[in-house]
Amino acid sequence: MRTTVVGSGDAFGSGGRFQTCIALDRHTLIDCGGTSLTALRQQGFDPNAITTVVISHLHADHFGGLPFLILDGQFRRRTSDLTVIGPPSTGSRLAEAMEVSFPGSSTVRRRFEVRVVEHVEATTQHIGSLAVTPYEVRHAAGAPAYALRVDDGESHRSVAYSGDTEWTDALIEASDGADVFLCEGYTPRPVRWHLDLDTLAANRHRLTCERLVLTHLSPTALAADLSAWQIAHDGLVL
Ligand SMILES: [Zn+2]
Ligand SMILES: [Zn+2]
Repeated sequence: MRTTVVGSGDAFGSGGRFQTCIALDRHTLIDCGGTSLTALRQQGFDPNAITTVVISHLHADHFGGLPFLILDGQFRRRTSDLTVIGPPSTGSRLAEAMEVSFPGSSTVRRRFEVRVVEHVEATTQHIGSLAVTPYEVRHAAGAPAYALRVDDGESHRSVAYSGDTEWTDALIEASDGADVFLCEGYTPRPVRWHLDLDTLAANRHRLTCERLVLTHLSPTALAADLSAWQIAHDGLVL
């Protein structure tokens, strides 16, 4: 499993980084932020080859790229179905996002289906060789938010991703023994609903992942002394 950090930014383009998007090989995405279609094209991914998008939570910097991905497929004569796996209410939130962005787009007939599957806490769903498990975290997004764990049965590689969240012990379970834990490092100091570097450092010894890589950094985190950390950047292959 080749893991590419397509977008390593926060919601606001801090540091000139694209919004959150992680590619697993060339067919599966974890999160698809509002800027992700551009980021995919910049990095040579074929958007029509994406068969599955797994969503951590329903904020636009994590799922707001789906209307663009779906419409792009429509205009480029995509024929393969797209599966979206996300929090409860993903289907209605996606339809609303499409209607607000491109009226009529949520009901138009296409050559491919968009199937929506909802996460069930700590319940694994299988996508080809990938096993995806969501763990509920602490982040207000109008629906439950999740950290995600992906285990690949072929390569025996595993990647965990925090999504956006305050510290929660669910992150220990989600990243247990993972090869890579891609973790939010939003601010230097604690802030509500997000993970800060002080709290993450205090809990680092409780994490059993092989490698921890920070992502989703705000301007204050980007300006801080990050020498103790590994930092993701757009295009990083893990
Ligand atoms: Zn975010
Ligand atoms: Zn968020």
